[in-house]
Amino acid sequence: MTQRKETRQVNVGGVKIGGGAPVALQTMTSGYTYEIDRCIAEIRKLARAGADLVRVAVPDKRDTAALPEILAASPVPIIADVHFHFQRALEAIEAGVHKIRLNPGNIKDRKQVNRVIAACKERSIPIRVGANEGGIVERRDKDTRAAEKATLAHDYAGNLIRLMLDKLDAYLRIFDENDFHDVVLAAKSIDPRIVIDATTAISQRYDYPLHLGVTHAGPPETGRIRSITALGTLLANGIGDTIRISYAADSVHEIEDGKELLCCLGLRRRTEPELIACPSCGRIEVDLFRLVTDVRRKLAEEITLPIKVAVMGCVVNGPGECEGADVAVFAGRGKGIIYVQGEQKQVVRTDQMLDALLHECREFASKVERGEAELSNAAVDVVRPEQG
Ligand code: SF4
Repeated sequence: MTQRKETRQVNVGGVKIGGGAPVALQTMTSGYTYEIDRCIAEIRKLARAGADLVRVAVPDKRDTAALPEILAASPVPIIADVHFHFQRALEAIEAGVHKIRLNPGNIKDRKQVNRVIAACKERSIPIRVGANEGGIVERRDKDTRAAEKATLAHDYAGNLIRLMLDKLDAYLRIFDENDFHDVVLAAKSIDPRIVIDATTAISQRYDYPLHLGVTHAGPPETGRIRSITALGTLLANGIGDTIRISYAADSVHEIEDGKELLCCLGLRRRTEPELIACPSCGRIEVDLFRLVTDVRRKLAEEITLPIKVAVMGCVVNGPGECEGADVAVFAGRGKGIIYVQGEQKQVVRTDQMLDALLHECREFASKVERGEAELSNAAVDVVRPEQG
């Protein structure tokens, strides 16, 4: 496995980012922060789903005014997302938020940026600084804007990445001048290839911890592919200390998919059952899709251990495909054959497969809890059942 890139570490209300800490999973609330009860309910829901950190937008004074109550009720550290108004940053810091997201380029006056940095320094609050494709081109100075747009008119991706790096360099000089190093860096784009190349370049240039994300990725159906392509590639290369998958949908989906990505890459220990299922083919002997849906729902409701469960549609490839599962079922000739860690346990009618499988899952989970069995990550040698 690729070694994770060594980075500095920052502390976000007790959640460490960088320096070898587990990759932190974050998301953002989608409702108004000033609607305190709804905001707290959303944060709690996201924390239950597995979020390590939750970010809230604070565009207005009434949002920062809501922060003390939100912070008191939140089960996870809170990040304040600030754009344009340095006063919002100061108010959020005063309220006790655990991290600020702030791009110096969005704030007009350098003195104002310095005041925010000084306030964060006093309270050891990290700041995430980013170069975002959507806001990378200078807005205020007309000549600079024209020059940057002209640069991007050819070799867009290459010049965009150069511009992102130049802007980050300029931002970081401000932080250096203030001797402030509790910084997390990010480079976001809607294009996963730009996210990969820009973040890789940043990782080679700095040792600050990195926040990974694809911006404005779209609904889960398409955004999932964009996000996993970029984040999966970077994480597999050892790059990235905190991630946010962003969807135009309930943020719970961001956490579910982020968790699965981290588990798949061995960067987070699985805490829930893992379901392996065959894709089905012309040899199928059971209504597999329905069975898998039912098994998945029941496992989520009933089993709290990361047991590996396999559901296979026939005995031809089933045994080989589910080696390594703790509990497995194959359909064959109107029957379901159930194995627990490689040992055949039951042969049942097809219509009994769901109940019998769940029974064996419960039994196995109880045994693990009593210390009478161990979860298997090692391959289990499943013997193909007799045919005929
Ligand atoms: S387990 Fe059987 S039904 Fe499922 S994909 Fe493999 S061969 Fe096809």
